[in-house]
Amino acid sequence: MTADLTRATAAELAARIANREVSAVEVAQAHLDRIGEVDGAVNAFLHVDTEGALNAARKVDEDIAAGAHVGPLAGVPIALKDVLTTEGVPTTVGSKILEGWIPPYDATVTRRLKEAGLVILGKTNMDEFAMGSSTENSAYGPTRNPWDTDRIPGGSGGGSAAALAAFEAPLSIGTDTGGSIRQPGAVTGTVGVKPTYGGVSRYGLVAFSSSLDQAGPCARTVLDAALLHEVIAGYDPMDSTSIDAPVPPVVAAAREGANGDLSGVRVGVVTQFSGEGYQPGVLRSFEAAVAQLKQLGAEVVEVSCPSFDYALPAYYLIAPSEASSNLARFDAMRYGIRVGDDGTRSAEEVMSLTREAGFGPEVKRRIMIGTYALSSGYYDAYYGSAQKVRTLISRDFDAAFATVDVLVSPTTPTTAFPIGERTNDPMAMYKADLCTIPANLAGNAAMSVPSGLSDEDGLPVGLQIMAPALQDHRMYRVAAAYEVARDAALGAPVISGVPQLAGVAR
Ligand code: GLN
Repeated sequence: MTADLTRATAAELAARIANREVSAVEVAQAHLDRIGEVDGAVNAFLHVDTEGALNAARKVDEDIAAGAHVGPLAGVPIALKDVLTTEGVPTTVGSKILEGWIPPYDATVTRRLKEAGLVILGKTNMDEFAMGSSTENSAYGPTRNPWDTDRIPGGSGGGSAAALAAFEAPLSIGTDTGGSIRQPGAVTGTVGVKPTYGGVSRYGLVAFSSSLDQAGPCARTVLDAALLHEVIAGYDPMDSTSIDAPVPPVVAAAREGANGDLSGVRVGVVTQFSGEGYQPGVLRSFEAAVAQLKQLGAEVVEVSCPSFDYALPAYYLIAPSEASSNLARFDAMRYGIRVGDDGTRSAEEVMSLTREAGFGPEVKRRIMIGTYALSSGYYDAYYGSAQKVRTLISRDFDAAFATVDVLVSPTTPTTAFPIGERTNDPMAMYKADLCTIPANLAGNAAMSVPSGLSDEDGLPVGLQIMAPALQDHRMYRVAAAYEVARDAALGAPVISGVPQLAGVAR
């Protein structure tokens, strides 16, 4: 019964709770029990809010018993990346500098989840300030990939993805600045969506790179991701970059796609994302996925986006530049820890000691790169050039979307790598996001859907689907159709292959 509840999809759980076949409290308890059993091995959670979750679940059960109308995900448990503020519940952003900080307010995403009756289980582990591709930059220890606990779960939202793959939660929220939803989704065999920039409010999302940061849904199925997307998306006057337009109809698109017909849909294969540095098993999985899209009736063509080759260097100037400015607010006065304030030191000295002790090495590296790139005399050469590349990338997308409906590529060049393999090689770590970064720079929608396991190492591979801004529904339709065909071909959902976690009875 309990295993049954933790393996169900969010859509199934919501239906069973609404029919009163099972209570929201039982569903929450089953997931809390599962977290208790396996999270010692996975470390997906930084904070589990047992009491808050059970109270929220009880409220949903009472509402249903009273005959109230509840939303399509009411009573379903969810895990939140620790970059979103939660009133009264710790928010660390994976950093020592915010240790012990209890936010006095909810992020808009948090508030919308609560209003829709979702049950927040807790906060998930992440690379410090969302800077990283492996969750090894967390100040609270790495998260482990449930497929192989000696490997990384991706990053920066490794905790949100691992929680899904370890059946600790059916849904989670991530944020994607350069790939932090999609890359963890790919390497854990789960679905991760970066909505159109401005599609989901950034209010209460601790800022890393404000022109790129975007929260989005993580789930084990395309429909579940779509249901969650519609709960969190939509205009918010509290975020000046929020788009005041109707939410793309992603749930309807996911349901339409599940019919398995993609005739009339034009799919472009990005030619830049293959060759050196790409694992052959990843490329074979991608080719098989493209063949399946053709079988579903899609028209497939190759599309060249030459500026994508410069996306990575442009991103690693723009993102650190914005971070160096955003992270100035951690000044030992307003939030979190304060070091060396013994009455003898100046405010400046206390700030400097606090930042020295509170920030980890990758965060310091980014602040230094960003400060340098923005400094007078270098601004045009670095930041200015990067912004020009950003425009060229947007133009490549515009040209591509003039002839195709969606673009596809592998989500990541490789499957999950061993913990420790890239920690001393920042460039190797940054390359995990080669394929995901262009969509952030242009602000359009992109997602990763599992495309099976690599024939080399048996680890999950992700198919990336990209769509124009505010056309998020296009990629959901393609992903949902592909998901049905993939499961039919493999004989079972990809996620059902997650091995038993060490020492844990399933
Ligand atoms: N891995 C990328 C980085 O380190 C992307 C991070 C993200 O999307 N938050 O910046």
